[in-house]
Amino acid sequence: RVVAKFGGTSVGTIERIRHAAGLVADAARRGETMTVVVSAMAGETDRILGLAGAFGSGLGDRETDVALAAGEQVSSALMALALREAGLEAQSFLGWQLPVITDGPPGASRIAGMDVAVLEAAIDAGIIPVVAGFQGITETGEVRTLGRGGTDLSAAALAAALQARCDIYTDVDGVYTTDPRVEPDARRLDTISHDEMLELAAQGAKVLQTRSVEFAKARGVPMRVLSSFLEAGASRGTDVVSEQAIAERRLVSGVAYARDQARIALHGASNRSDMAARCFASLAEAEVGVDMIVQAHARQPGTVTLEFSIAHRDLDRAQAVLEDAMTGVRISAETGLAKVSVVGAGLRQRADVARSLFAVLGDQDIAVKVLATSEIKISALIENDAVERAVRALHAAYGLD
Ligand code: ADP
Ligand code: MG
Repeated sequence: RVVAKFGGTSVGTIERIRHAAGLVADAARRGETMTVVVSAMAGETDRILGLAGAFGSGLGDRETDVALAAGEQVSSALMALALREAGLEAQSFLGWQLPVITDGPPGASRIAGMDVAVLEAAIDAGIIPVVAGFQGITETGEVRTLGRGGTDLSAAALAAALQARCDIYTDVDGVYTTDPRVEPDARRLDTISHDEMLELAAQGAKVLQTRSVEFAKARGVPMRVLSSFLEAGASRGTDVVSEQAIAERRLVSGVAYARDQARIALHGASNRSDMAARCFASLAEAEVGVDMIVQAHARQPGTVTLEFSIAHRDLDRAQAVLEDAMTGVRISAETGLAKVSVVGAGLRQRADVARSLFAVLGDQDIAVKVLATSEIKISALIENDAVERAVRALHAAYGLD
């Protein structure tokens, strides 16, 4: 059994939908039991966001989610029609028709569960189900969407429920050592471990959505990234596998980047740890992701400066909740930043990577504002306009080209 997911560019035009349907038809004729999941046509989600935004409705508004869900409604029906044209029986399914049950806020919901009985019935009747990704409903029937890249999560969850493999078809032939749009010499990886893929995704490599990888890891769903732009059988792709299944030993697997980061500093916070706890609790409640936390002693005795980075798009929201939660603390923000990250399971054994990262970026005259490490990752906060140079320099320095 295979769940095949097609992203926005893979269903971006009638021709692309036809080509994707051809790949599904080919697999079905080879005897695979196929279920398809689709994103909205490329550009559609942004277009709809713009329309809702004209009325001041942003991500996080019930009505924005109702509008957004229309994108996948269109593409799922078109894909079903394309499969029919290719001589197969197919039928579209919207989130509420399974249903896919979600919890969490509009625009950033999580999948709480799903019922695949209607899909099983369709499959038994020889019909290929085409599921609208990115959407579900709450227990009370409200339409919800899953956030950017959410169709990857729809696909992983469907694959778990259907006990299928999860094939993610996109516009690149797998997971590369870095974004091939930034470094044309990036190489495709045959395999990548869940944990490395998680770090790459969390640090900005949008080829797979972070939560979908978490889900696949937790539920043991085999996941593969493939190109929908090649002919059937021509895509080599990348398998996302457990660390033990990686044959090739390498220090670094990839370089990721995230543009448009901001750094917030809280000056004069008390050094009692409940201050920091209150700060991060209020941000978590507002769904603001926080990274690269630094706490330093301030000149004023008993006080500290607390600094951390967030995505620029969360800045207004973060400042609003912090001004509420942190009275008597001065809050400042720096924008125009980016994050570059080097990811690899081999970093566990190598303490000198921080030094070499400083050296590589230093050679390029790129200032490192903050450095953060985890077991298998090292990230630097730099200026936005240096990000492509930084990615290419690190990619070469760690022998990835
Ligand atoms: P889809 O619409 O199919 O979900 P995305 O745009 O979300 O596709 O993800 C695919 C894109 O991810 C590629 O076009 C590529 O520019 C980008 N990307 C970033 N990092 C990587 C990487 N390490 N390997 C492959 N692609 C990457
Ligand atoms: Mg995507």
